[in-house]
Amino acid sequence: MSDRRHFLKQGLPAAALLLSACTQDKATEPGDKNDKFAANKPVVISTWRHGLAANAGAWEVLENGGSALDAVEAGVRITEADPDGRSVGLGGRPDRDGIVTLDACIMNSRGDCGSVAALENILHPITVARRVMEDTPHVMLVGQGAKDFALSLGMEEIDLLLPETREEYTNWKKNNPDYRPPINVENHDTIGLLALDKNGDLAGACTTSGAAFKYHGRVGDSPIIGAGLYVDNEIGGATATGWGEAVIRAVGCFLVVEFMRQGHSPNDACKLAVERVISKNPDWKNIQVGFIALAKDGRSGGYCIQSGFDYALQEPNKQAEMLVPGYVIEAPQ
Ligand code: ASP
Repeated sequence: MSDRRHFLKQGLPAAALLLSACTQDKATEPGDKNDKFAANKPVVISTWRHGLAANAGAWEVLENGGSALDAVEAGVRITEADPDGRSVGLGGRPDRDGIVTLDACIMNSRGDCGSVAALENILHPITVARRVMEDTPHVMLVGQGAKDFALSLGMEEIDLLLPETREEYTNWKKNNPDYRPPINVENHDTIGLLALDKNGDLAGACTTSGAAFKYHGRVGDSPIIGAGLYVDNEIGGATATGWGEAVIRAVGCFLVVEFMRQGHSPNDACKLAVERVISKNPDWKNIQVGFIALAKDGRSGGYCIQSGFDYALQEPNKQAEMLVPGYVIEAPQ
């Protein structure tokens, strides 16, 4: 079911990409005597392998001197429009009623945020979220209200359910007469993307079709500020993937940023947040949760419950990388 398993089996096609075990924070050499780490910028980091293409889109914006906010939006729009992804935007798996519903949020360096949840038939929920942030006095619009807002901006209504996902859904329904959404490590792979621009400002974006075959109306962590995404321009940003209910319970990404505020590295902050998630979820061995984080000085890191999660990183003067973060247990084969 999982796209990432498929990719990992195939191996990495591009010679330019490095898949490396990542147990250390990515960091520049200590340079400024006042700072532990020299500023490393711009930087883009995002979840899963689809992050490579998203990072490339964000990088183009950053290299040309664009803002972190423009970069994160441009980056995740690539994933939203990709019909081959099964967990974000077009081609995303539907809910248990066969309807594709989208969650997304965005945060800028001033701490402004915008969000949409349970949005239907709109290709770019991240852009709707940005317009909620910029054009309304609100943070979050949901369901029909979010769709009406998107249509009022001139966005087109489109069918996000592709023939392949319709067939997959029909089979799932046939084989699951109890009609309960599966809870496992396989069926969810949000894109969360964080960027640090040349000015040293941070922004983040997170967008997903959510857990496959969820209850209609279910909202995950991804559009919840503090859960699926959080950015504090003084400290750093974090974004999450995995079983959203567990991330919401721990207010996961806010927690990661708070751990960085206390002086923990991005890797350690993500690890501590994973440990908190585990402590609040007795069924933790049956779920996946992964965090990635980007600090104000350009260091980045990640951590997850189960093996199988990886993330994409782009730093100055380096090739695009896929990194495997530390994890607590091996995922079942
Ligand atoms: N966190 C998302 C959700 O629960 C799914 C994922 O990241 O894979 O909706």
